[in-house]
Amino acid sequence: MLISLIVPCYNEQDALPLFYQEASRVAEEMGRSHGAEFEFVFIDDGSKDDTLSIMRALHGQDARVRYQSFSRNFGKEAGIWAGLKAARGDYVAMLDADLQDPPSLLPEMLDALISGEYDCAATRRTTRKGEPPVRSFFARLFYRIINKMSDTEIVDGARDFRLMTRQMVDAILSMGEYNRFSKGIFSWVGFRTKWLEYTNVERVAGTTKWNFWKLFRYSIDGIVGFSTAPLALAAFVGVFFCLAAFLGILFVVVRALLFGDPTNGWPSLVCIVLLCSGVQLFCTGIVGVYLSKTYLETKRRPICILKETEESGPRADQRLQSRKNQEER
Ligand code: UDP
Ligand code: MG
Repeated sequence: MLISLIVPCYNEQDALPLFYQEASRVAEEMGRSHGAEFEFVFIDDGSKDDTLSIMRALHGQDARVRYQSFSRNFGKEAGIWAGLKAARGDYVAMLDADLQDPPSLLPEMLDALISGEYDCAATRRTTRKGEPPVRSFFARLFYRIINKMSDTEIVDGARDFRLMTRQMVDAILSMGEYNRFSKGIFSWVGFRTKWLEYTNVERVAGTTKWNFWKLFRYSIDGIVGFSTAPLALAAFVGVFFCLAAFLGILFVVVRALLFGDPTNGWPSLVCIVLLCSGVQLFCTGIVGVYLSKTYLETKRRPICILKETEESGPRADQRLQSRKNQEER
């Protein structure tokens, strides 16, 4: 029984060694308790620090460690995808490098899958302690909105930390979309999910890679990726304004016929014109967002570009060289 641990890393030179230490400890424990073997799949998402060298070094000292390095920063979603694709395990887990997803939960997750009752063990935080209150507020708002709009349920507080069966991983990989929103994809593929809850843990080292603007764009990706309700909303608002305009015209014509037409009401006219054109632009914008996503999707660009893997890295050259030397001898 092989378990793959996928770890997307972006500038995680401080956290990665700590993660490796903790994950190895849990791996050893589970080797004894469950007879499980492990592989670590580290994804270097175009880090600008020493993350990649650390991965190379870890691969050098531990054959279980594999890594993939991107040619630039493609984002965590691309990292998850590349990791799932590279994973060879019968069970696949993904965790953050900052130990905010405690590997010590893995035994419990594995028990749930082995029992055959579940295909996936996922985690959610019960608190958002340690997070800026504004961020928590908007996060809650986002989950409320997307769950109203989308048929796919997106669980509030769900983390990307989960353990899945090979069958579920293959299902996720069969979704080849370019605009990836994992929280939606996990839910969309279905399967029976067991939810484990834990309280929020602060990251061990390094800083968060998400700022408010990035999160905002991520939430738009989520809504656009898993709901077409905004398009319907645009049409609905259009109809509403047409009706309002029709009633307005009736009112103005009747008033002019009955009372003549004193030339006043320009300020209100300007306000109405501004409002209507604003709504029009807003609705065109909604259509534009969907169009741009469709545009990117039709280009069929790869989700990420690999620059180096453990099979092509510096150590691989050494191995090849020593093999050649042996053959020559
Ligand atoms: N990450 C990544 N690519 C990115 C941003 C983040 O691979 O462009 C990784 C990061 O290294 C970490 C995980 O995604 O392992 C979660 O990021 P972070 O801890 O910064 O997010 P937070 O926990 O603050 O939401
Ligand atoms: Mg984190």
